[in-house]
Amino acid sequence: MDMEKVVSLCRRRGFLFQSSEIYGGLNGFWDYGPLGVELKRNVKEAWWRDMVATHDDLGTLPGAPSPYDMVGIDCTIIMHPQVWKVSGHYDLFIDEMVDCRTEGCKGRFRVDHLAGSECPLKPSKPAGGSDKCSLTEPREFNLMFKTTLGALGGEEDTAYLRPETAQGIFVNFKNVVDSSRVRVPFGVAQQGKSFRNEITPRNFTFRSREFEQMEIEFFCHPDTSRQWYEFWRDRRMQWYKDLGLAGDRLRLRDHDPDELSHYSTGTADIEYAFPFLSEGEYGELEGIAHRGDFDLRSHMEGKLDPKTCPLTVEQGDDGKPRHRGSGRDLTYRDDLTNERFTPHVIEPSAGADRATLAFLCEAYTEDEAPDEKGKMQTRTLMRFHPRIAPIKAAVFPLVKKDGMPEVAQDLYKALKKKFPAVYDAGGAVGRRYRRQDEIGTPYCITIDGQTLQDQTVTIRDRDSLEQVRVKLDDTVAEVERRITA
Ligand code: ATP
Repeated sequence: MDMEKVVSLCRRRGFLFQSSEIYGGLNGFWDYGPLGVELKRNVKEAWWRDMVATHDDLGTLPGAPSPYDMVGIDCTIIMHPQVWKVSGHYDLFIDEMVDCRTEGCKGRFRVDHLAGSECPLKPSKPAGGSDKCSLTEPREFNLMFKTTLGALGGEEDTAYLRPETAQGIFVNFKNVVDSSRVRVPFGVAQQGKSFRNEITPRNFTFRSREFEQMEIEFFCHPDTSRQWYEFWRDRRMQWYKDLGLAGDRLRLRDHDPDELSHYSTGTADIEYAFPFLSEGEYGELEGIAHRGDFDLRSHMEGKLDPKTCPLTVEQGDDGKPRHRGSGRDLTYRDDLTNERFTPHVIEPSAGADRATLAFLCEAYTEDEAPDEKGKMQTRTLMRFHPRIAPIKAAVFPLVKKDGMPEVAQDLYKALKKKFPAVYDAGGAVGRRYRRQDEIGTPYCITIDGQTLQDQTVTIRDRDSLEQVRVKLDDTVAEVERRITA
């Protein structure tokens, strides 16, 4: 799979465009075109449907009395600045960056993206005659975008665009418990934009400055938290497999103990071997973390304990911690056992754009297929899982006469009521098939002379190229059955 070919198809067929392209683009920002928006919506809808709406189908822990609760939430992008102080982002959401000092190079890099101490741009003849670029000392850089609230714009009016959606869930924990009759264990799901002022946005949408996350915070009893962590890790891995990332390009990687955050007793990444990475390298699609009671406790108490939060123990003049928590009681009382405890949290945190990019890369295929004259030709197709394919069906009248367009139009309208479909009457049928293959439409339906005699149509399968005749009246149901199978 060649990344340049994927990028070129995305642009040519309207999946992704550079943001503000007519002004030269803006680094780290991407727009989804007409097909891209359908694809990404389908990815997000599949996540919501599988994780929230029909989550009972995922099963539960062995021996657990009943399925757990799962609800959604939609929080604001700008939150109270104290949220980010207490979460640790204000002090710790930092990357180290270096600049290249060599004249004419102008490189700026995240330290952990450097291979050794070399400038990755390696200009062929750096000024000054030296073979090597010279880099500045690393400097710290906070990734949160700042903005200003209100008209006066003083320092105290500084606010931040959220760098993750998770905090909106933590600060609403009590609201959700009090308003929605959920009982621990339960999960709260959220999808939405997040912003990070990445030093080196790159690799298409993989590392953007504005992106969308799909996050779950799952609140459970400390005694069962380890089992719930394993439950979510395995369920989330299965989700990607079910939607088509089934090959060995997908892997689950448990973090080594020295990689874990100070509060985490287990973290795993779901990773994909994106084609822009070197052989053997994988990029993160999603992290599943056991976060203990770190988040709820921080929002109650602020940063107090030097063992759990070594960098924010600095005290204010009043002897209290610098970043004070809300002081609200975010513990939970089990009304059956009367036990009061601070729930532990399991966090499956995915990126909608990275998942969409992985599905695009995985779908890109070139094979050999016969053209109209039976001659084998190279064919480009996007093998999307039918659930996420942007267009589910295309309808072709074989010729633009003899009543075929009218029958085809009626069928197209009926299909369109159920899911995105297209009508295409232009050019040879073989060429129309190719157009749909290239955007990943799983089913093409042709209305031909026989349709007018016996009221049947052909449905052609994108991947197997198999064509079957079905009754015209059964076509919508048949396509629907295949998409949801
Ligand atoms: P990375 O190490 O690649 O920067 P991260 O570990 O900081 O990622 P998290 O904070 O765990 O990422 O965010 C959860 C998910 O959000 C990631 O798995 C990824 O899918 C997505 N994500 C994070 N940063 C970006 C970004 N800059 N562009 C696109 N998606 C992102």
